Amino acid sequence: MVDDSGIDRELAFRTQAVRGGLDRSEHCETAEAMYLTSGFVYATAEEAEEAFASKTSTRFVYSRFGNPTVRMFEERLRRLEGAEACRAVATGMAAVYASLACQLRAGDRVVASRALFGSCQYIVGELLPRFGIESVFVDGADLDQWRTALATPTRAVFLESPSNPMLEVIDLKAVCELAHRAGARVVVDNVFATPLLQKPLAFGADIVVYSATKHIDGQGRCMGGAVLGRREWIESELVPFLRHTGPAMSPFNAWTMVKGLETLALRVEASCATALRLARALEGDPKLAAVRYPFLASHPQVELARKQMKAGGTIVTLDFAGGKAAAFRFLNALTLVDISNNLGDSKSLACHPATTTHQRLTAEERAKLGIVDGTVRLSVGLEDAADLEADIRRAVAAS
Ligand SMILES: *Cc1c(COP(=O)(O)O)cnc(C)c1O
Repeated sequence: MVDDSGIDRELAFRTQAVRGGLDRSEHCETAEAMYLTSGFVYATAEEAEEAFASKTSTRFVYSRFGNPTVRMFEERLRRLEGAEACRAVATGMAAVYASLACQLRAGDRVVASRALFGSCQYIVGELLPRFGIESVFVDGADLDQWRTALATPTRAVFLESPSNPMLEVIDLKAVCELAHRAGARVVVDNVFATPLLQKPLAFGADIVVYSATKHIDGQGRCMGGAVLGRREWIESELVPFLRHTGPAMSPFNAWTMVKGLETLALRVEASCATALRLARALEGDPKLAAVRYPFLASHPQVELARKQMKAGGTIVTLDFAGGKAAAFRFLNALTLVDISNNLGDSKSLACHPATTTHQRLTAEERAKLGIVDGTVRLSVGLEDAADLEADIRRAVAAS
């Protein structure tokens, strides 16, 4: 059953993940085809004229505008998210930047949560103000701060929940209501939650952005991003921006991503189960000042996390009581888990945010986000849970 917005609500997530958006060619291939082509040809000059003149033509004309493999990825992700429309881009940052830049102009105001992925912080806090856009940051978990900031008319709200790396959870429904009263559209960076665990549109968000580089590829191979939202907004504001500025996803990457979506639910469920097990196992260890995981009873917003998310996600954040030296000893003692600033990979990865992903910030700015010198972010992969637990426990003991 397809509803008015073209969304098939009958087929379950796992079915859509495998079959949604498949567009077979005349060769009847089983798997999605990879169309490595920059251009497309026309049988006649009239056909080319029609392709450019028509507002309704769905014909492909140039891969910066659209490509059959990229389209299959967009359609599959659109169905999984339950959105009216989706556009894929080259990276997660291209998705974040395009989602904001396509709708903002000088004199506009943006309100964002402070706890953002480093490059998102740069776009909102440094880049947009250069173009005459005012940015205001709030503590995402403090609704009073949102209320105060959104008492002034605002064009866009940008937030990430759970946040990187401290796993702060934001009340999506409450913030969307405040934002809409202020006249703002809400953009949610849903990377940590994935399309499986959290549906921001259902809580009132207008736009969802992904770094497909993370769980959607899920195997550390390709860069990618996506923007999802209402068809009218995507077509009138986002598409012209993408067409003329050019952050297109390559067909090869789209092919990798569309195959990544097939196993997204299986992979994310498995990593979430292991992450919860590790968080529970490590909590209370005397070497750790804190263990953060949205579904741990000790998480300050566990009730909200359980309401908004199906599971706690694939990231666990540890604070070593012994500071940077202990965090480094831990990282250097790991034998199975790799040291890497990436996340959402099938391989478990650990990093020290204060000296890598968040080194651009001052110590005070990091402190405001709760990132201390002993903080380590652990991205839980698909290895055997007992093997991971043994490696991590041994490294914690060595810290
Ligand atoms: C990785 C990440 C991004 C950026 O995505 P890229 O694909 O690396 O450009 C944005 N937001 C969050 C939360 C991320 O984890």
